[in-house]
Amino acid sequence: MTENLSILGSTGSIGTQTLDVVRKLNLSVSALTAHSNVEAMEQQVREFHPQLAVMFDEQSAKALKIKIADTDTRVALGMDGLCDAACIPSADTVLNSVVGMVGLKPTLAAAKAKKNIALANKETLVAGGKLVMNTIKENNVKLYPVDSEHSAIFQCLQGCPEHKALQRLILTASGGPFFGKTKKELENVTVTQALNHPNWSMGAKITIDSATMMNKGLEIIEASWLFDMPADSIDVVVHRESIIHSMIEYIDNSVIAQLGVPDMRIPIQYAIAYPKRMESPVKQLDLTEISRLTFYKPDYDTFTCLSACIKAIKRGGLVPAAANGANEEAVRLFLDNKLKFLEIGELVTAAMNNQPDCQIYSLEDILNADKTARQFVIDNVRC
Ligand code: NDP
Ligand code: MG
Repeated sequence: MTENLSILGSTGSIGTQTLDVVRKLNLSVSALTAHSNVEAMEQQVREFHPQLAVMFDEQSAKALKIKIADTDTRVALGMDGLCDAACIPSADTVLNSVVGMVGLKPTLAAAKAKKNIALANKETLVAGGKLVMNTIKENNVKLYPVDSEHSAIFQCLQGCPEHKALQRLILTASGGPFFGKTKKELENVTVTQALNHPNWSMGAKITIDSATMMNKGLEIIEASWLFDMPADSIDVVVHRESIIHSMIEYIDNSVIAQLGVPDMRIPIQYAIAYPKRMESPVKQLDLTEISRLTFYKPDYDTFTCLSACIKAIKRGGLVPAAANGANEEAVRLFLDNKLKFLEIGELVTAAMNNQPDCQIYSLEDILNADKTARQFVIDNVRC
């Protein structure tokens, strides 16, 4: 079980919920990182006394340094700072909850520094799957999923007889705010409508990914790497209530599921406390209160991001990195009201089609594919 954590992205939705778990379990924190939220970082430094606080943004790092000059916490900045936080000697686990591809280098740095990794930052596995998994294996460290679906599968797999007994992974999806809508109805949806998730309160980027169902596509790729399963053996079922967090199926067609109220503190705590089970402030599940659990097939024609990700993992190589990079850029533009909702899927698909096939690649190639896909989106925005 983890005793000392470094938390990357500590001011975000997952980061603050992780600190809630840290409080309850009375753990130590060696490093905290954020992008530019100086106010939240100052509060966290004063409460958790880390050795290192990192602001990715340079001006924010300067501002934080002044604000916490009376503490013993050192301030660093940028990608070097993030990687320092990922390697800090006193932490045994790095919880990576930054949003986006920016999390890739720190994940690799953490593995090389022999840290176990609790991973929320799914973009890391989507863009750099093979490289990340190889680095994890070579350094003999553990990778614990924080994403609720992958934590559910990981929990279901405890006691699994052997990998070859596993036949299928079944990822559940809430369907987001636009479940059941037609393409026509989605043409003019607003940022506010897309940010209105029915079940989960999350950061803006993943909330938009849930609305487009890109999130589920990214999760198929994430699951494929984490559990060494081909995309054909990973199914998605829309489950509006978000009570079953995912399932596994054995070759005898027996299905095992993990259930709980939708609260990320359960998977966060499991990733940190593994293999222990600890008490938690999360509400108990009362199935009679919920009374009905429903299941539907996803609409792959309307939610083109989902079908794009399935194609991306099947093509392999740098195509998932291109899909992810294009999506990050398209979501940024959508949040800035510079892109229409349906254009996100169109641009992700087009950027993937623009990415040549290749099976052998380096970190530099991944970063280049990401950059090219982002530029492709910028060059092809209509308005
Ligand atoms: P948030 O946007 O709430 O938080 C992101 C965190 O990363 C913040 O601390 C932010 O700092 C920091 N950050 C943002 N951009 C950068 C950057 N360029 N460089 C360095 N740090 C940066 O995101 P979430 O917590 O919702 O999501 C984090 C990750 O976890 C994502 O990959 C998401 O897909 C995944 N995830 C999230 C779930 C959720 O319930 N929220 C569920 C499952 C997975 P600042 O506050 O200063 O901007
Ligand atoms: Mg998830």
